Amino acid sequence: MTIEPVTVPLVEARHLVKHFPVRGPGFFARAREVVRAVDGVSLQVAPGEIVALVGESGCGKSTVGRLLVRLLDPTSGDVLFDGESIFALGPRELRAARRRFQIVFQDPDASLDPRLTVGQSVAEGLEIHRLARGRALRDRVADLLAQVGLLADHAARYPHELSGGQKQRVGIARALAVEPRFIVLDEAVSALDVSVQAQIVNLLLDLRARRGLAYLFVSHDLALVSQIADRVAVMYLGEIVEEAPADRLFAKPLHPYTQALLAATPVPDPERTRQRLLLPGEPPSAIDPPPGCRFHPRCARAIERCRIEAPARREIATENRRATCHLIDAG
Ligand code: SF4
Repeated sequence: MTIEPVTVPLVEARHLVKHFPVRGPGFFARAREVVRAVDGVSLQVAPGEIVALVGESGCGKSTVGRLLVRLLDPTSGDVLFDGESIFALGPRELRAARRRFQIVFQDPDASLDPRLTVGQSVAEGLEIHRLARGRALRDRVADLLAQVGLLADHAARYPHELSGGQKQRVGIARALAVEPRFIVLDEAVSALDVSVQAQIVNLLLDLRARRGLAYLFVSHDLALVSQIADRVAVMYLGEIVEEAPADRLFAKPLHPYTQALLAATPVPDPERTRQRLLLPGEPPSAIDPPPGCRFHPRCARAIERCRIEAPARREIATENRRATCHLIDAG
């Protein structure tokens, strides 16, 4: 499913910047350096759209996910949800707004309280937001468990009695309980077996079809992304370097970094072959990113200009895509 230009975004990140101060040893040490985890990210997610945010570990994609649901405050920039800044909300407004955007993490154990049964965990959000109680609450929990493919009996079990895939389903049921419109899935299926991954991906697609949910699918797994995303944004060292409808990006990546990432990924379609490109070395430090194009020390196509001048974002309007590279012509 390809969604053409976003007109009314549900979620909009505007020039998001998140720098983390790095303190030296000692209690009174002052922060002299900053990790530039996110450095000017703009991104939109339309209602019902699945946008994947991909890149190597440490590129800043999880930080973007946390900023979009206000688990972190930005250094600068803004996030609009339905046209309203989520950082302008007071504590009471934020608590109410949290119903509309949720996050599911990679490790379900981190979000499940081992002392609570599955039923109590799923009911928690419904109780906090006073959405149901008594018999209606129990029915709602049973319905949510059914929606994520669990049995009503699972409500009485504790997290340690469940498999990893079952725990992740509970995490998704918890997120769904408050009827959000947008969910950040932060590597939410990365730790699961391939067969369980496929089940959860089908579940997410089914929930999108039934409820019109939008997702930001944060992942380093491009094969998985190709199965679920409408649009893909590729991050490198705190910046989005390419963004395109998923089918176009996988068929013809434009940015040398995207090309290298895809070349390192198994191709699901045996008819298609890709020239293997080499992506040498580790990403440079986000404390002191290289001048010019941040990718230039690893780019096989770098020219002298790349070392000096940061490339501007080029829009290829006819294909609804954009990329940040000196070698790409706008069109
Ligand atoms: Fe490579 Fe230069 Fe393009 Fe950066 S701007 S991706 S270094 S060719």
